[in-house]
Amino acid sequence: MAENKFLLIPGPTQIPNRVLTAGAQPMVSHRSGEFVAIFNELRENCKSIFKTKEEVLIMTCSGSGSMEAALINFLRRGDKVLAVSVGNFGDRWRDIAEAYGFQVDYLSFPWGQAADPQAIADKLAADVNKEIKAILVQHHETSTGVYNPLPEISRVRGDHPALLMVDAISGLAACPLEMDAWGLDVVVASSQKALMTPPGLSLIGVSQKAWAAAENSDIPKFYLDLKKAKKYAADGQTPFTPAVSLVYAMNEAVKMIVEEGVDQTIARHYRRRDVVRAALQAMGLRLLADESCAGGVLTAFYTPENIPPKALTTAMNQSYQVAMAGGMGKLKPTTLRFAHLGYMRDLELAAGIVALEMALLANGYSLQPGAAIAAAEGVWGRQ
Ligand SMILES: *Cc1c(COP(=O)(O)O)cnc(C)c1O
Repeated sequence: MAENKFLLIPGPTQIPNRVLTAGAQPMVSHRSGEFVAIFNELRENCKSIFKTKEEVLIMTCSGSGSMEAALINFLRRGDKVLAVSVGNFGDRWRDIAEAYGFQVDYLSFPWGQAADPQAIADKLAADVNKEIKAILVQHHETSTGVYNPLPEISRVRGDHPALLMVDAISGLAACPLEMDAWGLDVVVASSQKALMTPPGLSLIGVSQKAWAAAENSDIPKFYLDLKKAKKYAADGQTPFTPAVSLVYAMNEAVKMIVEEGVDQTIARHYRRRDVVRAALQAMGLRLLADESCAGGVLTAFYTPENIPPKALTTAMNQSYQVAMAGGMGKLKPTTLRFAHLGYMRDLELAAGIVALEMALLANGYSLQPGAAIAAAEGVWGRQ
């Protein structure tokens, strides 16, 4: 009998009891001083996690809603954008942009690799009339576990005026991110990934340069009007009824990260990454991403040739109540994603490794039982 599933998926992630309890508080008016105090505390703490002095807007919608908001608030109808894709979510930037009729220049890289800043530099150099108004990119690409080199991507813009719009939905608080120091213009995040909160809220950090561009935007918007959201945020409010319980929950989760220190939280994610990489390699499994670009969110790996991914997820789910994520898009038939983000104790991570090992054994794969845990212990023992 198990009350909870153990989640090894990249969102929704496990929720700490402190956060669950905060989200279960009796309802208050979202126009009350009580709510304003919580909302303002959350706004300030979000800025410190984004490493920005700018406003971080708190939206009641999933992360994709805020990606859409980014495109319709800071651009003009039919603008040209450069969509940089290293996987499934890079393609989502392109798809949303196409849905709104932007001219999309699509620059893709092999899945499992990071974006090459030089290729972006070449695109911008060729754009002599400065028609590209935004570069769309992932901070961490969740379909592959790859962390993109944002400081370099930002730097190669030189004096090109394109806004840099970053989907940090899975990477925020799991991989390094410095909105101001790196010159990022729009940064989107979401509650249900490393922020340890149920799904339903997303965050958008906006630079002064992007706010200036918003003044010229001619695209229709109403619920996702960010200028309106900014005006209300200054009074600790939202234009529409927010998901009050989620605001209470996220305030607690973000406080936990600030109490630990965001850099320490990220370092903990990278240590888990090292543990999982060592354990999977000890099982003889091939990893998708090279260590040089592997982020702290998840580790994607190929299943053994004669064992379909689904056989392993089914075995883990049925025998151990463990949910591990399948591959996405073209990686679905051959890979799984071992997520290690958010709220997870080291011993739970060890249990996840054991569940995978047992599922492999149950499917006839030959391995040395315990070798993966020994490799994990080797990494833990290092610090
Ligand atoms: C999860 C995720 C999304 C989608 O977010 P939703 O909250 O499901 O809309 C987009 N981009 C990345 C990188 C993600 O990990």
